Amino acid sequence: MIKTSCHCGQVTVEIPTAPETLTSCNCSMCHRIGALWAYYTLDQVDISADTELLNYLQGDRTLTLHSCGHCGCTTHYVGTDGKPDARVGVNMRMAPRELVESLPARRFDGAETWKWLD
Ligand SMILES: [Zn+2]
Repeated sequence: MIKTSCHCGQVTVEIPTAPETLTSCNCSMCHRIGALWAYYTLDQVDISADTELLNYLQGDRTLTLHSCGHCGCTTHYVGTDGKPDARVGVNMRMAPRELVESLPARRFDGAETWKWLD
């Protein structure tokens, strides 16, 4: 298990294994928050929040972005289909820095073509 946490530590997301790559997306949301994503399913991760989560339903309503209500860090998103294997994007910016710096990041054009840019 690898533990990711927001800055104040009240929201944590534990993931089973490190991803092979991180995704840097340029869509209107990711461009703003600078997240680096790794993908799991809801039943693979352990999400804990000791404070209120800020929940932001994206414009196309396919996912809800979750941020710590205290320190504001965006920790993860969850697909809105409600299934146990719903896709979860974990913001690896919340993971230990040494781990993040050891993983390659791929650029994804979520703004225009929905294709990888590498
Ligand atoms: Zn926090």
